Amino acid sequence: MLVAGNWKMNTDVPDGRALAASIAEGLSSASSDLGTVEFLVCPPYVHLPAVTDALADAPVTVGAQDMHAEDEGAYTGDVSAPMLTSIGCDAVILGHSERRKYYDETDADVNAKAQQARAHGLVPIVCVGETLEQRKAGEADTVVQGQVDGALSGVPIDSADELVVAYEPIWAIGTGESAEPEQAQEMHAVIRDDLTERYGTAVADDVPLLYGGSMKPHNAYGLLSQPDIDGGLIGSASLAAESFLGIAEKAGKVLEEARD
Ligand code: PEP
Repeated sequence: MLVAGNWKMNTDVPDGRALAASIAEGLSSASSDLGTVEFLVCPPYVHLPAVTDALADAPVTVGAQDMHAEDEGAYTGDVSAPMLTSIGCDAVILGHSERRKYYDETDADVNAKAQQARAHGLVPIVCVGETLEQRKAGEADTVVQGQVDGALSGVPIDSADELVVAYEPIWAIGTGESAEPEQAQEMHAVIRDDLTERYGTAVADDVPLLYGGSMKPHNAYGLLSQPDIDGGLIGSASLAAESFLGIAEKAGKVLEEARD
């Protein structure tokens, strides 16, 4: 179970460092069993060294929110995979719907970045998800399948720890209206089938499929207890240690029940 935070363009560096420090502190004093929950935070680029430092002794990995598909060059304002790995980044969010919407990112762009991430040993967290109009038109499955295929075509994935896919219905992001657990499960099953065809069962069964879209402590349990939901990509609730760790507690509970 992976609990991942996408801080987006929030907090300045001192506040980001303090948030990371309170996550570390919360984890070290957690009373419930979070032992097998995995954690990742994706702060803004300029926070990465400070956040990595604040989490040095905590079981939390650090990722970026995007990157360029080239190693280097005249791309003003961009950040490359070698830059991210050089400061200890392990993962990178790719194809977030906000990148697709505000920067016109296409599946081909996401694909080029996913190839690049793998070439540099970064775990791509590939985001997919339909709009409300597409859902109402009964197109959610085909849209999401198309995004998964577009992002991963030709991307070599040899083991489950080399990829994460996040299903983030656009209508649920930042709206306070999360998908129903069964709705999300249905889409995760579609993604799992797609990954199985592409990479085989041995890999696809264990690729973490995250749900994202208004996940909060109060709705996390229902979502995380679905068979194909392996964690959450969390936006606004990841901006406070209390709510981020509140979701983690629910993940821990689901894992504990699965062991019993
Ligand atoms: C996101 O944008 O990745 C996200 C899931 O945001 P929120 O949790 O705020 O809906």
